Amino acid sequence: MPEDIPYDRNLELLPGRVDEPMPGVRRLLCNNPSPFTFKGTVSYIVGRGKVAIVDPGPDDPAHSAALLDAVRGETVTHIFVTHTHRDHSPGVPAIKQATGAWVLAEGPHRAARPLHVGEPPRLDAANDTDFKPDRVLADGEVVSGSGWTIEAVTTPGHTANHMAFAFKEGNVVFSGDHVMAWSTPVVAPPDGSMGDYMASLQKLAKRDEPTYFPGHGPAVRNAPRFVAAYILHRKAREASIVNRLAKGESDIPALVAAIYSNLDPRLVKAAGMSVLAHLEDLVARGAVATDGPASIAGRYRLGA
Ligand SMILES: [Zn+2]
Repeated sequence: MPEDIPYDRNLELLPGRVDEPMPGVRRLLCNNPSPFTFKGTVSYIVGRGKVAIVDPGPDDPAHSAALLDAVRGETVTHIFVTHTHRDHSPGVPAIKQATGAWVLAEGPHRAARPLHVGEPPRLDAANDTDFKPDRVLADGEVVSGSGWTIEAVTTPGHTANHMAFAFKEGNVVFSGDHVMAWSTPVVAPPDGSMGDYMASLQKLAKRDEPTYFPGHGPAVRNAPRFVAAYILHRKAREASIVNRLAKGESDIPALVAAIYSNLDPRLVKAAGMSVLAHLEDLVARGAVATDGPASIAGRYRLGA
């Protein structure tokens, strides 16, 4: 797969060091690097004086302490959570306890669809099933703080409860793991859904904020163009799956081997889940057939 997305992997940010990439937005990197989190989770502080925090990050006392340190002398009134993966929301209780802030999100963790009979919950360890917001936000809902206004934008796909937050005064979007400059996110059933993910990309493609601040890595610049590239990338991935099925490949390990070149061995399982997400979507649309529900061990062929 050529580098069709204009990736940016230059993050000039050190763990524990706060910077201010634009007026009204500060950010803090957590020291939890991995093949899935890049250099780590990025937490954001919105406003001055009476502030909001977007994604307190994992259950990491050093990060929570650094976040509280960064807002020393200020009041944290709101905590926004993009989604309930363990690198984003388990830091909520520590911040809430220290500040009394309200916790706002789309909702608790849930899968995108019910489990099929005999299907193990695949990436369960990644999910924060303890998370419970104080207030559930609907799509388009607007929350006003002291000098800042945030619009909730439901963006299911990476998780069913994924929500992006548009910071109106800054004309930027906190895009969580939905759109990131360093990589495309993992979309893994049953928690993720490729059909939802594509619809959420189409939804963001209609917005005009030029900059996104994601949950990992540097800011996304030229965001509308970047989102368009993401959409093309997914369509190309789908086309190569269809093409490989036409050539006789019929199971997920063979498809992964054929489609992904130079894959980090630690990402093979995630790549398999991503191919499954595409197949599930293709089966739902009648372009691909399989016996029973689409599964990681299934055999696939073209046509209904
Ligand atoms: Zn995530």
